[in-house]
Amino acid sequence: MPELAWVNGEITNLYDAKVSFMDHGYLFGYGVYEALKVYNGKPFCVEEHMDRFERSMKEIRIKPDLSRKETIEIIYDLVEKSELQDAFIYLQITRGVGPRNNPSLPGAKPTLSMFVAYLAPLPDSVRQDGVKAILVKDDRWAHPHIKTLNLLPNILAKQIAEENNAYEAILANEEGIVTEGASSNVYAVFKDTIVTRPTDGKILSGITRLVLCRIIEQNGFKYKEDYFTTAELKEADEVFVTNSGAEVLAVTDIDGDKIGNGKCGPITQKLYDLFMQEVSRTTGR
Ligand code: PMP
Repeated sequence: MPELAWVNGEITNLYDAKVSFMDHGYLFGYGVYEALKVYNGKPFCVEEHMDRFERSMKEIRIKPDLSRKETIEIIYDLVEKSELQDAFIYLQITRGVGPRNNPSLPGAKPTLSMFVAYLAPLPDSVRQDGVKAILVKDDRWAHPHIKTLNLLPNILAKQIAEENNAYEAILANEEGIVTEGASSNVYAVFKDTIVTRPTDGKILSGITRLVLCRIIEQNGFKYKEDYFTTAELKEADEVFVTNSGAEVLAVTDIDGDKIGNGKCGPITQKLYDLFMQEVSRTTGR
């Protein structure tokens, strides 16, 4: 089954897709993106992802030339053509193609592109044992709530994580207050209360976070949005991260310090189970 790309209307095999050198996404990272998961051949939370995509485009002054409905149709069509059941969809839009010395590119057509690719499920042992994370200084720009292509700080933090055999880099500001993961939102459980940072413009408003917060409320867990330091995080009974790919994933080691008993804790496990019930309710997986 093929991994496919779609660029301004043309479908190709993933690695054959081409975009102009003079695309301002390539030259300046001038663009925004979305990444969503496909379960059972059905994209999960497509409307929520499109809401965020539209917010991001507005923030960086990109006006799409396709409607939301048309974009969603292309997503569904690409998934269907790929015949992939459990997959990952990436879509991005850039300011378009034109001279480098003309930042506003009047009249340029935005470059919309997408791909659908395999996504290997996490092994059960990783779910049960949790993953290792390291702490990295958050030195991103002032607007990390916009899902822009400018991921250099995130990618460098991920590389440092990888070099330390860690799965995720947890970012914290100068005062040691946790913002989020390099590609995830971060949660701490203190006794029976789940705490996560408010969406105050300094983190990305994760779609998994949105769905999980609904689940948390509906199921009567104790929950609050609040700030916590890296020292407090290390003292938490449970820590977990969320994103579209990993869903709800326990973090059981931070910078070599064990969290809880070093295994996925009961609240994280329950939230993962409830999240997957929601996936199955909406996608039939
Ligand atoms: N924060 C950052 C910095 C991310 O890159 C991601 C993944 N896109 C998330 C949070 C989680 O977002 P989502 O749940 O929408 O995948």
